[in-house]
Amino acid sequence: MQQALINLAYLASVVLLIVGLKRLSSPAIARSGNFIAAMGMGLGILVTMLIPLGSGDNNYILILIGLAVGSSIGLILSKRVQMTAMPELVSLFNGLGGACAVTISLLELFQYQEIFTGEIVGDVNMGKHFTTLLTIFIGGIAFTGSILAYGKLAGKVSDKHPAALSYLNIVFLLVLLALIGYRVISPDASFMIPWIILGISLIYGLTFVQPIGSADMPVVISLLNAFTGIAAALAGIVYENQVMFIGGILVGSSGTILTVLMCQAMNRSLFNVIIGGFGGSSKKGEDDEEKVAVEATLNDVAILCRYADRVIMVPGYGMAVAQAQKTCKELDNLLTGFGVDVKYAVHPVAGRMPGHMNVLLAEADVPYPSLLDMDDANSLIPDTQVCLIIGANDVVNPAALEDSSSPIYGMPILEVFKCGQVIVLKRSMNTGYSGIENPLFFKSNTKMLFGDAKSSLQNLISEIRELG
Ligand code: NDP
Repeated sequence: MQQALINLAYLASVVLLIVGLKRLSSPAIARSGNFIAAMGMGLGILVTMLIPLGSGDNNYILILIGLAVGSSIGLILSKRVQMTAMPELVSLFNGLGGACAVTISLLELFQYQEIFTGEIVGDVNMGKHFTTLLTIFIGGIAFTGSILAYGKLAGKVSDKHPAALSYLNIVFLLVLLALIGYRVISPDASFMIPWIILGISLIYGLTFVQPIGSADMPVVISLLNAFTGIAAALAGIVYENQVMFIGGILVGSSGTILTVLMCQAMNRSLFNVIIGGFGGSSKKGEDDEEKVAVEATLNDVAILCRYADRVIMVPGYGMAVAQAQKTCKELDNLLTGFGVDVKYAVHPVAGRMPGHMNVLLAEADVPYPSLLDMDDANSLIPDTQVCLIIGANDVVNPAALEDSSSPIYGMPILEVFKCGQVIVLKRSMNTGYSGIENPLFFKSNTKMLFGDAKSSLQNLISEIRELG
């Protein structure tokens, strides 16, 4: 009876997680989705706490202290984090998930093996032993890989890509698989093997992420997220806990789907991403030295926008930095009042996390029909008089289409260079996240409006109002 109630509560928890996840697919209902999923997780934790241990001796004090400390840290961090630093936080949390899976597996290992002598003290189930070692392996990679990804995103670790790392990674992978296989067949072989597997996995997490280029970080974070999910699902098998198993599968599968979608959005294979080499180069060719970007005056831009039939705004990371989303909407309202059709073109990897621009624009009450995805935007741009690029750079870089030697060649972009007039709002000629120069700035139909995006938009609004 008690087990039936526990299973029922777990089922409810899983349903809440799935409903929550489903609702995250639309910005309009994502907030409630997050809340519902959090309730599902809360229910899962509560029910797990109520399961009596074999000894009947649940250490509630320790569990409650752990919950209080973890929840307080989570609450403080999520309240303090800037929207632009969200991917870093996600990466950090993801790493902790991997570390949890490793810890759980080690504890399980010590159920049947002495920690230091390696003496086998219980029955060894081969399947469970394999799962435990696999969890140590995957969780270990997710842990150190995510911490390094956090360091890279936060700009604390530079992108260095020694060619030898790719070979070293293959060696690490083969050694790890061999060690796991050997230990499963002979569980009483050297007690050091699980520790060696843990050590190499932790190092492999670092060497796996290090070669991955800066602009590919969204993909690797999503991939590591999938790893953590798989590690959690395996830990669920080890602990025979259904909610942990299904929760892990949900994280693992959604992380995998997101990874695939991101690779498609960048027109790159996952293998190519993992091998690395994207971004980081800002080499100038001789031709580029001679090119000069043309500066626009506020009055030029005001007239262009005020009398255009359609204006497409292209938000990017700079809009998030400047917190200019509400000012974009203000300009949108003003221009719409003059009969201009205003749209927003959103690239899938604009900003610093998937859906970053959607979240910010939703916060500014931009209606969803005004948001265009990449394909719709690209078909509308050639018939558009003005494209306002608001702190975007990589996602509008035509080198991706025009320059076969460019590291981003082949990545789909918003083809704003086909617009009647392109106005780029940014503070300087600096490169974007990938460190690649942008030939868009030197095109004959492009003008630069230098300055912080929010101030530039505010000035533009005043100028358009003066035009009447
Ligand atoms: P980019 O990083 O390419 O460019 C942003 C531009 O914004 C910079 O060139 C900067 O130029 C400008 N900028 C910064 N602050 C301001 C400000 N206050 N006012 C005006 N402009 C400002 O951004 P994109 O959105 O075009 O591209 C996203 C990049 O990030 C891609 O390379 C993507 O792969 C990567 N990425 C995406 C993630 C995701 O999941 N979406 C996660 C991690 C990385 P200046 O300094 O001259 O002002």
